Amino acid sequence: MKYLIITLIAVVLLFGCNRDCVTKLPNKSGQKEIKGLFDKDIGDAEMIFDLSVFVVYNRTKPPMSDVSSDLDRSIQEANSFSERIQFRMTSSQYVKHNAILANIRQSKKMEDDLCKANDKPGTINLYIVRSDSDLEGYTPVLQDGFEQYGTLDGLERVFVSYNGLADGAVLIHELGHFFGLGHTNDCRNYMSYNCYRDMFDADQRNTILRFAQVYRKYLHSK
Ligand SMILES: [Zn+2]
Repeated sequence: MKYLIITLIAVVLLFGCNRDCVTKLPNKSGQKEIKGLFDKDIGDAEMIFDLSVFVVYNRTKPPMSDVSSDLDRSIQEANSFSERIQFRMTSSQYVKHNAILANIRQSKKMEDDLCKANDKPGTINLYIVRSDSDLEGYTPVLQDGFEQYGTLDGLERVFVSYNGLADGAVLIHELGHFFGLGHTNDCRNYMSYNCYRDMFDADQRNTILRFAQVYRKYLHSK
């Protein structure tokens, strides 16, 4: 009986969950912290975030020209929702490693093995990685206690699969998580799934801007 219940719960979780992003979402206390951002006077300075890009391959290097066009499109998309927050690629390089996306998100050890030697401090480290499933993106984030960003290691990483990068909306979805957003079911919204996605709502835009200004301040240049 016990196993039946566990199996049933597993089935519900499997089908109730979207499989293409497994990033953790703000919990209750995290949501409270995000609400608190709206009581703050944060100013309206422009923020520029540097992206260090790592193209991870195992056996064969994908042609940089192919990756570049998908990358340009994804970054352009990320730069389109607000003039106040801009992303610029400051470096790109190949990294030979056997990591695949599903393993990275299951194993902090695998994540660190890939990233520790490569992460560039003071930037968002974007890893383009192989995926053998529907998983298209993953961002290691805190669920609350956001003031710890900048003091804990390994929280400036975004992982996007090659297919996800080609999609164009996965990078901006993961950056949404990077700046405190959870998921939504509204089609067209960047934080939804399995839809054509091309927008944030006003609340999400404001959350990103405030979150970036306050909790990711250590990363942006004025
Ligand atoms: Zn997600």
